[in-house]
Amino acid sequence: MSVKTKTDMIMLTKISNIIMELSKVDSLNTCYKALSEIIKEMVDIEEEYFFNKDDEEKIYEIFDKEHDESIEELVKWSFKKTEVSIFPEEKGSYIVMPITQSTKVNFVYTIFTSQQEFSNRFMMILRITTFLLGNLFETLVLYEDILDKNIIIEKNKNFLNNILNSTIDSIAVYDEAKNIQFSNDNYKNLIEDKNFKEIIELEIKKALEEKSNKTFEKFYEEKTFSVDILNIKFENDYYILINMRDISGTKELEKLKKIDKMKNEFISTMSHELRTPLASIKAYSETIFNSLEALDKDTLTEFMKTILTESEHLENLLNNVLDFSKLETHSLDLEKSKFNLIELIKEVTNSLKDLSQDKKVDIVNETEIQKLEVYLDKVRIKQALANLIQNALKYSDNNKEQKKVIISLEDNDEKIKIIIEDNGIGIPEQEIPKIYDKFYRVDSSLTYEVQGTGIGLSIVKEIIETHDGSIEAESELGKGTKFTIEIPKEMVE
Ligand code: ADP
Repeated sequence: MSVKTKTDMIMLTKISNIIMELSKVDSLNTCYKALSEIIKEMVDIEEEYFFNKDDEEKIYEIFDKEHDESIEELVKWSFKKTEVSIFPEEKGSYIVMPITQSTKVNFVYTIFTSQQEFSNRFMMILRITTFLLGNLFETLVLYEDILDKNIIIEKNKNFLNNILNSTIDSIAVYDEAKNIQFSNDNYKNLIEDKNFKEIIELEIKKALEEKSNKTFEKFYEEKTFSVDILNIKFENDYYILINMRDISGTKELEKLKKIDKMKNEFISTMSHELRTPLASIKAYSETIFNSLEALDKDTLTEFMKTILTESEHLENLLNNVLDFSKLETHSLDLEKSKFNLIELIKEVTNSLKDLSQDKKVDIVNETEIQKLEVYLDKVRIKQALANLIQNALKYSDNNKEQKKVIISLEDNDEKIKIIIEDNGIGIPEQEIPKIYDKFYRVDSSLTYEVQGTGIGLSIVKEIIETHDGSIEAESELGKGTKFTIEIPKEMVE
């Protein structure tokens, strides 16, 4: 065990005091104060200054304290020398302590004391103090620099967040494990709906698997979202950026404009359609009226037949308009009765014989069943079937050698399935869901060659659905179309 001398003990006490004082330091300001306190413990301070150099090497007092210019010379010297130095004066001494870290001087602490003699021990403690403080000061400078940078980073982050939260878009970033790395407030609100979250995250999963960028529209609960999915590679990791915008308003407007355009087209088509049979009825009745005596019986019968057919056509058109207004208010009343569906199909095909001959399309009835009793609205079912078969004839493909419409039937206990298949012009896949919309006609020259109002299928759908049935279309452009109707038979004994 070593025996400590009194001097050793004093040294140790001093150093531990210094360490105690330094441990309180938590900022650059408290650092200056701590240094002053430590030195005050060892020597009487009459004046004290903290000096530093600016970018142009000019010496300045950190706290703007007035000082003698001659001190600046000592400080300049000490910036170069980087060692604690004592300069004796008449009435005391200047002690100049550069606070350094390796060779870099952070600042120079200078005091004036009345004391003129200093022990080696005192000098040693001064060196220890400046060494410890130099390190501490450098750490504090770095720490405050990091704090400043953190504040800047935090500020930038808040700024970006603010921007991302002010946009009308819903934005999120997912990592490869499908975890959200970032999302703005709009996105957070959207995915509160668990179902929607599931739908969207399925798209994210697909995008991660396919590593492809995508833009598409998503319909959810009467809203339309335009969705952009982008793959991002950042430092060898993959992320998915998703940006969604609610475009329901724009879509609604587009739809209204389209309906308006379609209504106008409907009115002009209707006027045209009405004028043709009307003109023909007028012409024939005028001829009969003006030259009744001159006409033989056969010609008269022929004329009267034309008038009758045209009147029926007119009646049909007017019924369509009437049905259409009922459809608008969903007030289609059914008058159900028991009848043989096979007979009804025959009636419909017979009534379309002229059109099928005109169009050179064969109507093939593949139904093998002879009798199938159902309890439905006969007039409405006839109207729906007539409309579908008429369309199959109307939209036949002149490029095909053998044009045909095949009608088949399936009797499945409680339900019946009626299939009407043609090898006509077909419907583009993306248009299929729209064909039941009022006034909708496929936008192609082949469609416009054929007269139509675009309301037939909307009436068919309403009729089938009012019977609790369903209608489905499958089609391929240039190949043909297949409509499948399913209706409960609703048989009564
Ligand atoms: P339209 O009076 O125009 O025939 P519909 O409501 O009956 O009106 O049909 C809507 C649109 O669907 C038609 O304009 C046509 O473009 C398309 N379409 C309907 N049936 C067929 C079919 N069998 N083959 C090809 N296109 C069809």
